[in-house]
Amino acid sequence: AALDEQTRTLTEKRARLLGDSYRLFYRNPVHLVRGEQQYLWDAQGNKYLDVYNNVASIGHCHPAVIDAVQQQMSQLNTHTRYLHERILDYTESLLKYVPGEVSKAMYMCTGSEANDLAIRVARAWSGGTGIIVTREAYHGTSELTSGASPALGSGQPLAATTRLVPAPDRYRVDTPDIGAWFAAQIQEQIDDMAAHGIKFAGLLVDSIFSSDGVLPGPAGYLKPALDVVHRNGGIFIADEVQPGFARTGESFWGFARHDIVPDVITMGKPMGNGIPVSAMLAKPEVLAAFSDTIPYFNTFGGNPVSIAAAQAVLKVIEDEKLQQHSLTVGTQLQQELAALAAQHDCVGDVRGAGLFIGFELVTDKASKNPDKQRALDVIERLREDHVLTSVAGPHGNVLKLRPTLAFQAHDIDWLVGSLDKALRAGR
Ligand code: PMP
Repeated sequence: AALDEQTRTLTEKRARLLGDSYRLFYRNPVHLVRGEQQYLWDAQGNKYLDVYNNVASIGHCHPAVIDAVQQQMSQLNTHTRYLHERILDYTESLLKYVPGEVSKAMYMCTGSEANDLAIRVARAWSGGTGIIVTREAYHGTSELTSGASPALGSGQPLAATTRLVPAPDRYRVDTPDIGAWFAAQIQEQIDDMAAHGIKFAGLLVDSIFSSDGVLPGPAGYLKPALDVVHRNGGIFIADEVQPGFARTGESFWGFARHDIVPDVITMGKPMGNGIPVSAMLAKPEVLAAFSDTIPYFNTFGGNPVSIAAAQAVLKVIEDEKLQQHSLTVGTQLQQELAALAAQHDCVGDVRGAGLFIGFELVTDKASKNPDKQRALDVIERLREDHVLTSVAGPHGNVLKLRPTLAFQAHDIDWLVGSLDKALRAGR
């Protein structure tokens, strides 16, 4: 179908003015003008269900965040070289959510910066350079993080010190013990590094493996991975940019489902509900080797306005009991999706934790062959029904269902109904 005139004009202008690395979603791009809670509206006034946004995690334009930011912005905004209570009050609050051994915080503006620093910390602490990530990982935009982000494709060279392990995908890996299997993959890569004269520095993983296809797996299975990392003198970095801040329902962080204590924890996206703020938390002894020798200053990182937003987010998660909500509604949604999967031979697997769900499309259940084209068609059809989501995984065939935590039980019919319709439309 032809694009309407405004959409065409904006799309052309964008292509002319912005760098071509930017990718637009959808053949018929969406022009959003307003958001509230779990919904968005386009320029024509159409209402959309947002099933893809963990940045506006507590709901679009949450009044508590708006008030906090407005109030602090009208009073003062400065940086971390002056004293300010907010950053300290917030750090005390945030540290209550992580294991006691992790007791130091540093603030940045993006997940990329948090992971970039985490890699530098791993290197300073271990004296090595080797970083292990999963095969379809994405960790950021900087030289260090993009060099450890195979999801960027073959155009982006990986660092010579990066090694890849296959993700712990229980749907595709045939093993009775996914935890032991994953740990063995890590050991293999550490050995390969050593054979090439590279000293291991750390494992950097998204603790729900979002870009690898959303792989929550059984709680506890990351424990052997942590052990193998420590036995080999490296650190375990939990990238919580995607699963963090109550999303998995079962726990506040992705790693916490596994009852492990990471050495470093990075976070971003949902932390400020749209205001740029990110953080790296670390065990003090792990951070020391870096901090003792290298100064760190991030102009906007940890500024009072960003921290005010982050404080409001934590308070809303507590006041609105969003972790419990994510578990309750997420479980209900997963049940409805599983029922839908039973009716469609092209749905191979449904897996999730709270409101973070992977819905894997295949040519048929028996062969498990990934069906990327169908996934793309489904995404486009959902868009026409005003349901926004996208795909993940090495084969691009997994629908990544990650609504705001404002998603309600009464939204399930819209999502599942549209999905059913899109699947029935065939290939
Ligand atoms: N880590 C993960 C797991 C991510 O998904 C992303 C962003 N998609 C990043 C890091 C980078 O975060 P940012 O875009 O805020 O730099």
